[in-house]
Amino acid sequence: MTERLYDADSHLKEFTARVVKCTRQDGVYAVLLDRTAFFPEGGGQESDRGAIGSAAVLDVQISGGEIVHYTDAPLDEGSTAVCGIDWKRRFRNMQNHSGEHIVSGIVHRLYGLDNVGFHLGAEMTVDFNGELTREQLLEAERLANEAVYENVRVRAYYPPKEDLKKLDYRSKLELTENVRLIDIEGYDLCACCAPHVKRTGEIGIIKILDSFKNRGGIRLFIKCGSDALSDYDEKYANVLKISNLLSVKQCETAAAADRLAEENRALKFEISVLKKRLISEKAENFKPRSRLTAVFEDGLDIKELQLFADALYKKNGGIRGVFSGKEGCYSFAVCGAESELDAFFSGFKEKLNVRGGGRNGMVQGTAAAGRKEIDSFFDPAD
Ligand SMILES: [Zn+2]
Repeated sequence: MTERLYDADSHLKEFTARVVKCTRQDGVYAVLLDRTAFFPEGGGQESDRGAIGSAAVLDVQISGGEIVHYTDAPLDEGSTAVCGIDWKRRFRNMQNHSGEHIVSGIVHRLYGLDNVGFHLGAEMTVDFNGELTREQLLEAERLANEAVYENVRVRAYYPPKEDLKKLDYRSKLELTENVRLIDIEGYDLCACCAPHVKRTGEIGIIKILDSFKNRGGIRLFIKCGSDALSDYDEKYANVLKISNLLSVKQCETAAAADRLAEENRALKFEISVLKKRLISEKAENFKPRSRLTAVFEDGLDIKELQLFADALYKKNGGIRGVFSGKEGCYSFAVCGAESELDAFFSGFKEKLNVRGGGRNGMVQGTAAAGRKEIDSFFDPAD
């Protein structure tokens, strides 16, 4: 059995170990060491990365009760290797995982909910078996950050079996043997196999970002430490850009965006009124050359196409089509007397690449055809 160095010292970045076994497996190498500081994937947290000698560690898993390091190069069995873990990745995982314990401990104490799901990969999600209001989440977040300011001790230990019975700790599994507890002084006691920070000050800010209802409970997206800082950087850059674009103070960007959206709505309405006026004027002045006509007009949506085709038909009879879009991809509406239109449209569909349909003397859809083809279908003499 490999000695788990990360169990006793979560801050061990470099160590030497003996290569016990190295076998080729699916294009990579499966390596067993006599001792390791590499944390294997487990308890919702992804595995460590790093190097064993000159081989890169691609993944670490528990397989058949052993900690297996998957590397990109072979290692000599029996040799001693200097090993280093990707500390940035590990520390980021510890900041998030320890932060999660604090939040889960507080949510459990304040609101009686249990953590029933945890995932720590590119982002961290935590599921609770009940709902929480925004105010409750803000209160939990405030207290969690106080735990950070207090910089209390975080201790990992295996209590004797008799002591375990008397302890009140959070646990997802009903374990009685070899239970490893993480004690965050005054805040939480929880069974967990992962490495954690030594003091809460290492975590940095704990930020509950989004939440949504999930299977009768709630799922939280939480970022701690360096992740929270990166998130802040990204959001700050966004706010800065918006504030420059709208020429407002950073704290007033939401109100300014609101005003902009309102102005946008008003402008859209104004444009639609003007378009309707334009359509009715164009329909009024339209001089048809034949019973079947196709009109091309830029920037019309389906409602406007229908309005235009209908106005043309009402004034002139015949079959009146209006097309908008670009060469090879037009939206259209065509109006005509039902009896005449049906026959016309089935020919139109057959001849040109047309999708669509309709009823009561109006058909609409899209035509993957050119303007010339459409024109000559409507008016072959043209
Ligand atoms: Zn844990």
